[in-house]
Amino acid sequence: MKAKIHPAYYPDAKIICACGNEMTVGSTVKEIHVELCAKCHPFYTGKKVLIDTEGRVEKFKGKAAAKEAKKAVLGKKAKTEKRAKAKAVKRAAKQPAALIEE
Ligand SMILES: [Zn+2]
Repeated sequence: MKAKIHPAYYPDAKIICACGNEMTVGSTVKEIHVELCAKCHPFYTGKKVLIDTEGRVEKFKGKAAAKEAKKAVLGKKAKTEKRAKAKAVKRAAKQPAALIEE
């Protein structure tokens, strides 16, 4: 090996998983933190587990709830009602005052 151009090599570097599993490998990084490993990945465990990275599921649920709320205000029904109201006002403005009953 040429001197001074290679990074330091750790033959006993550790890979630490979020589930607590530890593996020893050779690496230029002393400690590697991972979210999944063969001990906890659903593919290997056979269990159906929802893997949530950085609260993505919560984020999506929040977005969906916000969309539903918006739908109630700006939904098709609400829009149709709003349009009908605007049309009625326009029609009333066009007609002479004497013809409007109410
Ligand atoms: Zn793991």
